[in-house]
Amino acid sequence: MDSDRFRTALLEERSRIESAIDYLHRETPGSLEDETEEVLGTSDNHLGDAASGTLDREIDYTLEGHSEQVLAQIDTALTRIDDGTFGTCANCGRQIPEERLEARPWASLCIECQRDTDR
Ligand SMILES: [Zn+2]
Repeated sequence: MDSDRFRTALLEERSRIESAIDYLHRETPGSLEDETEEVLGTSDNHLGDAASGTLDREIDYTLEGHSEQVLAQIDTALTRIDDGTFGTCANCGRQIPEERLEARPWASLCIECQRDTDR
């Protein structure tokens, strides 16, 4: 497991999310919940005007309404890299497939346990 690569990915992801949160706070002052509704209510055209390619991705986090949560998960994952438990499921202890970590390097549960949690 090349955890350095995931550490870099996690740090990049964290700064992306932080700048997305900053951006949204600057654009529309107020609570994040209000902003989310506002963004959801705007047309695709408006989003296209306001957002570059990167920004589209940043707004996605807010639309999902869990950017703060992902930030916390990223910090947890970075801690797990340091203590050597990164890449194993926090619930059942099995190895998390590398494809899953590529897509969500902050994942702390394998797909099966995540499914149980979401249920
Ligand atoms: Zn598991």
